[in-house]
Formats: sequence, structure tokens, C-alpha cells
Amino acid sequence: MVTVIDLSKYTKEISNLFSASKNILIICHINPDGDSVGAQLALYHYFKSKGTEVSMMAPNHLQEFLKWMDGAERINIFTRDRKKGLAIIEAADLIIMLDFNQSGRLGEAEDAVKASKAKMVVIDHHLDPENFADIVISDPTKCSTSELIHELVCELNGATFLNRSYAEALYVGIITDTGNFEHGNYSSRTFRTVADLLDSGIDKNKIINLIYNNFSSDRMKLQGFALNERMVVLPEFKTAYIYLSREDLKTYNHVKGDTEGFVNMPLSISGINFSVLFIEKENFIKLSFRSRGQFPSNEIASLYFSGGGHLNASGGEYRDTLENTIAYFLKVLKDNAWRFEK
Ligand code: 5GP
Ligand code: MN
Repeated sequence: MVTVIDLSKYTKEISNLFSASKNILIICHINPDGDSVGAQLALYHYFKSKGTEVSMMAPNHLQEFLKWMDGAERINIFTRDRKKGLAIIEAADLIIMLDFNQSGRLGEAEDAVKASKAKMVVIDHHLDPENFADIVISDPTKCSTSELIHELVCELNGATFLNRSYAEALYVGIITDTGNFEHGNYSSRTFRTVADLLDSGIDKNKIINLIYNNFSSDRMKLQGFALNERMVVLPEFKTAYIYLSREDLKTYNHVKGDTEGFVNMPLSISGINFSVLFIEKENFIKLSFRSRGQFPSNEIASLYFSGGGHLNASGGEYRDTLENTIAYFLKVLKDNAWRFEK
């Protein structure tokens, strides 16, 4: 495995690998977010502009708010047509994996990808990549994989590359992974990239409306319920959490994606720098973590909840009832009290 930090030194090698490949497949992670799909579509539009047809795959279905993006309809959903998915993976001689660095994030496509003889490239911005690809382009200083894709594509292109569909896709990736420039994981470089994207003539207001102002009334009511009835604030731990049972979700006709962003809300409370969202799934509890400042939400995720992620945005899971998971979490908080004294 080669881990690439300084992209410019490896442009030639990556470029050679891309041009030597006849069947390129780009895969995003399970439950793909705006960054994963945005980076995937941007890379697709870049290849297309160069006359290279590539395949795209998502381990499972896209959320509604991403389906409008140009090219999204061409993404093969592995769980929807497994036979076709397996054939595409088998035919690939290069597999580019975007926005994840652990093979488990391939979901049900994991075994087939691992069994493939194709060259593997990971392009990602999460910490601590697993060793499962030939080349890992990993830059945790980037706000998003989309930001990294623009740097790579401009290096490969030998000049700034832009077209409208490409720019729209990257813009979605950057605004969603930075929480509309709220999470603080961006840099001046991010804005140089965004300046490029805006110069390409994208309609940023249209994009913001499609991503953020596109909710159902049930979703808004679920949000109100979550804040009123299911949020617990623990000032002594500078922590607040929200929990939602399957029953709660059913009451509000929950559809996939409805709870997206809920975990960020408690961080708006003064003095709160750690926020957790517990969602009851069929056989386990899914946890999302967000933090402010140096509080390592990803350490809590990896030490106690079989998960991981970034310092300020991470997730994990726990196989027990919602009640027991919350009780366990409260014990974790007590055991980690020293972290909150900082
Ligand atoms: P979200 O809370 O939006 O689902 O996830 C935020 C981030 O946490 C993701 O981008 C990913 O990096 C990380 N993450 C979420 N769930 C998991 C998980 O179960 N395992 C690992 N390793 N990372 C996760
Ligand atoms: Mn990302």
C-alpha cells in the first residue's frame, strides 16, 4: 500500500494507472452522504469530459435529497441489483473508492470488491486508513473528499478543471461535509476551491434549496418532537443527546434521511460541546457523535461503540436496547469525566 500525502508527487503514477485501466469503477460508501456522492459524480464528469466512460456504484440506495444531481441516475445500487453489481465489480480493472478508508463501509459489496483482482485506489479525508488498497490518497486536512477530488483533478488535468455538472457535484460535497461552512473543518484552500466552483456558473441558491429547503412537514414535526421530548442536556458533561425509538420514527412517517443533521442541533446550546444522536434500528442502536473544539468524539466512537470518524464528527453502533445503550453511554461519560474538565 502506498499512502499519498503530497499529491503532486504522485500525479504521474495515478495518471498512468487511470490511463492504463479499461474498466474503471467508482464506489462511494454505504448510506452515501453528499460528499461521497458529490465526489463520485464529479470524478465521473471529469472522466466523461476526457472521453472515458466509467461505472459508478453505491453499496445501497441514495437519499432523496441527492437524486437530482446530474448523473445520479447512472449510479448502480448494489443492493437493488446484486447480479448486475457483481458483474460490474468483476469486470473492473480499477476500483476507485471515495470518502471512506475501511472496507466495511462497502456494506454488502465488501466481499466482492475484496475478491476482485482490480487495482484499488482510495481517495479520502478520514484518519487512519486501513490497509486494503494499492494506493491510498488520504488527506485529513481536507474538509471533504470533494475538496481533495478537485485538487487531484486539477493536477491530472494540468490546469483548473471545471464544468457545470462537475462543479455542482463538488459544491454539494463541500457544503454538506462542512455543514454549510459551520463545522470549522474548512480552510482558506476550501474557499479557493469554492471560488473556482462558483466561477463555473453553478446556481448556488438552487443547490442550497435542493439540499436544505426540501423537507417534508413530517420531518419538521419529527425535529420538533426530538428537541421537545427526546433531548437530554447534561451540563456537567457539556453534553446533550437525542434518542429516537423505532416507534417515534414510525409516528412521524420517517423516511431515510429524515434525521440527517439532528445531531448538530444540541451543539447550538451554550456550553455544550459534545452531542450524540441515538437511533433505534432493527437489531442495534446507531450512534452519531458531534463535538466542538478538541473533544475527540471519534475516540469515544472507537473505544466504546465499534465506530470511528473525525475528531468532531463520528459514529458507531451498540447492540443492545435503546434504554441499555443510553445507560451504557452515561457510564462512558462518567468514565471519561476527565475529558470534560479541559
Ligand atoms: P454521521 O453521523 O453523519 O452518520 O457520520 C459522521 C461521520 O462519522 C462519517 O462521515 C464517518 O466518518 C463516521 N462514522 C459514522 N458512523 C460510523 C461507523 O459506524 N463506523 C465508522 N468507522 N465511522 C463512522
Ligand atoms: Mn466526507
